[in-house]
Amino acid sequence: MAVRIALGDYQSVAGDPLGRDYIGCFPRMTEEEAWRAGRGVWKMNRTRASSERFALIVGHGKVVAVAQVKGVTKHDDRHALEGDLVSAGHPVYDAYIGRPDPLPNQSQNRVTYGSLPEEDAFRIRPCACGCGEASDRDFAPGHEFRAIQARIRDHFSGSPLALIQWIDSNHPQPAR
Ligand SMILES: [Zn+2]
Repeated sequence: MAVRIALGDYQSVAGDPLGRDYIGCFPRMTEEEAWRAGRGVWKMNRTRASSERFALIVGHGKVVAVAQVKGVTKHDDRHALEGDLVSAGHPVYDAYIGRPDPLPNQSQNRVTYGSLPEEDAFRIRPCACGCGEASDRDFAPGHEFRAIQARIRDHFSGSPLALIQWIDSNHPQPAR
């Protein structure tokens, strides 16, 4: 799931819990500025916000920054997202940056939630080696080798060569 935050109009602020001089949206703001202006502070459900993987910051109806959410901090009765901007080459960034708000809502809430199809590749799922860990990849780091080694041990008498010969005999090499 993703959280979408729509920036309001530019306004200067004093005593901001995030140490900012201004919040809101202005023309040609950088992604860094948009994230700083948008990541807080909001009245939001902390548990819900912490479970989001990505944040889209929207200004004037268009996505102006995309961040990966790493956590949520509390500031009195409000919260701020912690995270890192993602950039070109990231599927969520490439799909939404500069495009219309993909999660428009009728209620005019600045903070809303929704799912984005591009997030599927990042969903948390059980490691495929069967260890019981959760990961946003098919395997927890290094566990693909553990899974392969288990199969070599169980089915090929511990011989990697026997596995390779079996693969080659069942899947003829493409012509080189
Ligand atoms: Zn594993």
